[in-house]
Amino acid sequence: MKSENIYRLFGVDDRIAALADEAEEGLRERFLEIDRIAEYNQLKVIRAMQENGISGACMLETTGYGYDDLGRDKLERVYADIFHTEDALVRSQIVCGTHALSVALFGNTRPGDEILSPVGMPYDTLQTVLGLSGARGSLRDYGVGFRYVDLLQDGSFDLEGIRKAISEKTRLVEIQRSRGYADRRTFSVEEIGELIRYIRSIKKDVIIMVDNCYGEFTEITEPSEAGADMIVGSLIKNPGGGIAPVGGYIAGTEECVGNAAARLTGPGLEKELGPSLGNNRLLYQGIFLSPTVTAGAVKGAILAAAVYEKLGFRTAPKAADPRYDIIEAVTLGSPEKVVSFCRGVQRAAAVDAFVAPEPSPMPGYDSDIIMANGSFISGSSIELSADGPLRDPYTVFFQGGLTYQHSKLGVCMSAEQLLEDGFLDDLA
Ligand SMILES: *Cc1c(COP(=O)(O)O)cnc(C)c1O
Repeated sequence: MKSENIYRLFGVDDRIAALADEAEEGLRERFLEIDRIAEYNQLKVIRAMQENGISGACMLETTGYGYDDLGRDKLERVYADIFHTEDALVRSQIVCGTHALSVALFGNTRPGDEILSPVGMPYDTLQTVLGLSGARGSLRDYGVGFRYVDLLQDGSFDLEGIRKAISEKTRLVEIQRSRGYADRRTFSVEEIGELIRYIRSIKKDVIIMVDNCYGEFTEITEPSEAGADMIVGSLIKNPGGGIAPVGGYIAGTEECVGNAAARLTGPGLEKELGPSLGNNRLLYQGIFLSPTVTAGAVKGAILAAAVYEKLGFRTAPKAADPRYDIIEAVTLGSPEKVVSFCRGVQRAAAVDAFVAPEPSPMPGYDSDIIMANGSFISGSSIELSADGPLRDPYTVFFQGGLTYQHSKLGVCMSAEQLLEDGFLDDLA
């Protein structure tokens, strides 16, 4: 059966379905490479679970204080083994990626310290945590300073600028792996390793933290294996595998993780408290599925690039470029096209397909944001989603899909909506 037939049920124009099939045809070898990464990471996860003796009892729930939560404690060992770190904090009480990053930063800095971002301005919500937008309770309110060094014009690290920015006060360096909503590349683990070695050659004992959001399992190693003291991420992105209903993780040295735990629960309480509620099984299933779910999302992102390149739009990364996260940025050039693209993706959702997303203000972000997110887990961006700030150059960020097939439908529906709204006039 030609796939156009089933795509027609969704209203996808035959020309768009054919374009997607053709793009896919050209990506076979690339997809094979991604399958190999998934295979490696899948076995890495299974091995970590076996080595830690995960059993049926680990799936049980705890309530209240959550003392002696076997499943929670062993899950943290599993994360530590997967990421090759001394320790990890993996909790349902961490509500999102920004919260995990905030806990890690507050826990590991003290008044008078300075945080340095050597890769430009960090992710929008992090700027708010740091105190750049005047929100109450920020790190700035507690006397923790912040500096950043922009990347050079060609996207490389400004080594001289970084050297000058590191001082007596620099306590923690925050490196964001994925591009977020910024106009820059996502860094490979190897590049992050080089940057870490350079920073350590200037200041040996500085804490190096990597914002690992969207990066987990896109390569066979993680930044914690390249010298980072701490890596941080969200369980409603890659490592939750689309199954974790909430949560975040901080994996790193015993010292960094302990400091973060003291902040999350309380001094003296640290990791001893924190009930897993009914979430242990979901978090185990999530990390188990994450390598293949992430691989599907990476393939979907590559397909999006290939299709939108054929349609004449600027994409980043390009279909042929290497990938270190699950995000595809497509520059559409006008707010109307961003809205159209997101509405198309929403129409591809299994949940809430009938909803029409609208741009609106979001907590922690400065511009209005539009989000297409018809997901099982509210706001989950490992699930098929698209979003973007309504600001020049009107770039939309496409990501996720719990299966590659769903991602492909999302790509087709976004193009279909652009066509219906009159933005693809020269489609062959
Ligand atoms: C998603 C993301 C975060 C955190 O966002 P939340 O919505 O709070 O989970 C932080 N940094 C980057 C690079 C991200 O992609």
